[in-house]
Amino acid sequence: MLLSKRVQAVKPSPTLAIDSKAKSLKAQGIDIISFGTGEPDFDTPQNIKNFAIDAINKGFTKYCPVAGTVELKEAVINKLKLDNNLNYTKEEIIISCGGKHSLYNLFQTIFDDGDEVIIPAPYWVSYPDMAILAGAKPVFINTSDKNHFKVTASDIQKVITPKTKAFILNSPSNPTGNTYTEQDLKEIANVCLKNKVLIISDEMYEKLVYDNFKFYSIAQISEEVKKNTVVVNGVSKAFAMTGWRIGYTAGPAEIIKAMTKIQSQSTSCPTSISLKAATEALNGPKEALEVMRKEFEKRRNYIVERLNKIKGITCLKPEGAFYVFPNISGLLNKSYNGKMINTDTEFVEYLLDNARIAVVPGSAFGASGYMRLSYATSMENIVEGLNRLEKAIEIL
Ligand code: PLP
Repeated sequence: MLLSKRVQAVKPSPTLAIDSKAKSLKAQGIDIISFGTGEPDFDTPQNIKNFAIDAINKGFTKYCPVAGTVELKEAVINKLKLDNNLNYTKEEIIISCGGKHSLYNLFQTIFDDGDEVIIPAPYWVSYPDMAILAGAKPVFINTSDKNHFKVTASDIQKVITPKTKAFILNSPSNPTGNTYTEQDLKEIANVCLKNKVLIISDEMYEKLVYDNFKFYSIAQISEEVKKNTVVVNGVSKAFAMTGWRIGYTAGPAEIIKAMTKIQSQSTSCPTSISLKAATEALNGPKEALEVMRKEFEKRRNYIVERLNKIKGITCLKPEGAFYVFPNISGLLNKSYNGKMINTDTEFVEYLLDNARIAVVPGSAFGASGYMRLSYATSMENIVEGLNRLEKAIEIL
């Protein structure tokens, strides 16, 4: 067999697959409205672009230090201090090529074959497969809209075994947009500490929160919790910088040093120009960020209200990210043109083929009976997409 067992155990990202199917239909001239995308539809703010252009013109185009430039590490340290009241040193920070790369390096660094990692479901699609690639076994805790897609300390306690190495927390969450409060996090942190389970806190959507929700990092709870936590964040979602590929990790120096070793043998360093752009994102003016956040909030309010008016759909109003995750179980087991639609995947295929709208089935995130809609698309598209959704449901 040509391919390794490792790669055969991994699935390609289903969200990227749906996005590329929608893009290819669009390229064929078919009018598709996509709710599938996981990136802001806004352009990167001009001050950030200017900084990168300047870096190119000044010849900042060579290899950089493996774990990122000192100036960006300092900007990250400053951000973590100002926004999250967390104190880190440069030895506790590594910059990588996107938050995904940060998590990938982290998983390669901490997992041995057979280690278990607890992942609340629905989950971001890459966690289980990245864990499998690192030899670890994902252990899922199922949640539902009834409990706001949240796990509790006692849910975690029940699945901990001597092999449990880490617990993944993602608040605000992709795909549900749900968030954990300070009190929820204290209970989760305690159970992890008591059982020596490392906390991986994916904070990519920290800046996209609504209704005056105050983001709180689990690492803020105490010095002891901070030492037991690895924080992953980045500039992709908050600053509309998905294509620049910059993410960062803050955690115990021993882990960061080991991640740096892996990075030195894979990508060498993040892209020089992007390091400059991310430095400006973190240090520069933040007005553009607030404009985007407000627009996302407006869209979320609209989309949630309209979805809840559709018979067969119930949708929570999430406090963060740019996704909604409505329950569509009331729409399943119906038929169209004599063909039964029994699963969320079949329902999503029906929407793409007949209503020309692209959404992601809940089962891609480990939660069947739901679908994910991203509202990182214009209000005009959202209005038209929901009109099409309504019509498609009426004829079932
Ligand atoms: N974590 C979560 C929860 C995400 O949704 C994503 C991107 O979709 C990432 C991490 C990775 O972000 P990046 O684009 O910086 O690799």
